[in-house]
Amino acid sequence: MGKQIGGEYTILRPAVTGNSFKLVSLDAAGGADVTRRALFGLDQHALTEQMVGLGEPGWRGRQLAQALYRQRVTELAQVTTLPLGLRSKLEGEGWAVDRPRIAQVFQSVDGTERYLVEGQAGDGRTVETVWMPEGDGGDAGSEDEDDARNWDRATICVSSQVGCAVNCQFCLTAKLGFERNLTPGEIAGQVVTVLDRHGVEVGRDRVNLVFMGMGEPFLNYDNWMGAVRLLVDEVGLSPRRMTVSTSGIVPGIERLAQEPPELRPKLAISLNAPNDEIRAEVMPINRKWPIDAVVDAVRGIRLRTRERVTFEYVLLGGVTDGAAHARELTRLVRRTGLPAKVNLIAWNPGPGIAYETPETGAVERFRQALAAEGVPVYLRRPRGRDIYAACGQLKRTVEG
Ligand code: SF4
Repeated sequence: MGKQIGGEYTILRPAVTGNSFKLVSLDAAGGADVTRRALFGLDQHALTEQMVGLGEPGWRGRQLAQALYRQRVTELAQVTTLPLGLRSKLEGEGWAVDRPRIAQVFQSVDGTERYLVEGQAGDGRTVETVWMPEGDGGDAGSEDEDDARNWDRATICVSSQVGCAVNCQFCLTAKLGFERNLTPGEIAGQVVTVLDRHGVEVGRDRVNLVFMGMGEPFLNYDNWMGAVRLLVDEVGLSPRRMTVSTSGIVPGIERLAQEPPELRPKLAISLNAPNDEIRAEVMPINRKWPIDAVVDAVRGIRLRTRERVTFEYVLLGGVTDGAAHARELTRLVRRTGLPAKVNLIAWNPGPGIAYETPETGAVERFRQALAAEGVPVYLRRPRGRDIYAACGQLKRTVEG
């Protein structure tokens, strides 16, 4: 079922919401259909229900959750806490771990890695996930694949949909259009798979998550929040180290405001223009939810102590990077009255997109103009430009 928003967007309801995917596979006898069922993506509660349904004690569910999300197993055979007979029984009923897997890796000279991650639906579609190591003492970019500890903190950029319906004019993902929503397991699975690849120890290593990859998380709210719950409750990550970025989907922001503080990630608004006129050109979604409506919704969030809302601002050469734009943005940020910071990102070029990268001088002047007025402002270093992992560049290579 599609739903029209503002006459311009076709927003589809989740195509895949559960954890069961009908796949035809041939068993040993030949020809029988089995429904493959993914364990990865189910929380402890759901796993316990499945175990009880099989006539097993409920605590088997806890053991399975531990194995899936803490030990990060990829095969049922690795769940050694379960008796062999139970593992066989699960397999016989079509259950498999079925964690999303990395299908392809692109390594940047700056240490960034971009992955094509294959989901659980068996439709062969991939999304992009990016690993950005930091603070590696200047050794980033080592081509030694085994040197997985060559970082002391890192950020993982996570996708929420295959493609995107929002149609921001500067974004390569928009060119794909919307294909389908990811399930909670497919969203959380990107994170767990990447944690695994880099040997991250949750609780010891500093890893931040940003839901800024392909897709608009708030147009897949239930599945996205389901993933956050898995990552917090089962994987053990803190929502204070997670940031969700939205193009300004007001109903999504309002729902986020209702989430309990122990689950709610921080919020970033992808602003990208200092006024409604330019923003509607760059991000047509602004015609549905203009800046003031977005800011009003953000005001409904009870921020934690020292928490700030991020305004992301992609600088487009000659379009949003002038001195007048900087002054207008400063006034806008002040007017919101929110504890806020601005993240500036120089636009990364992409094929078929008619914008220009701002000049280095213009970027620095813009930053200084905001800083001089006391607006907390950060310049985001472009990461992995050479592998098309930088902001707005995802989905460069999948189309062949
Ligand atoms: S910037 Fe984000 S919301 Fe906009 S089209 Fe790209 S993926 Fe979608």
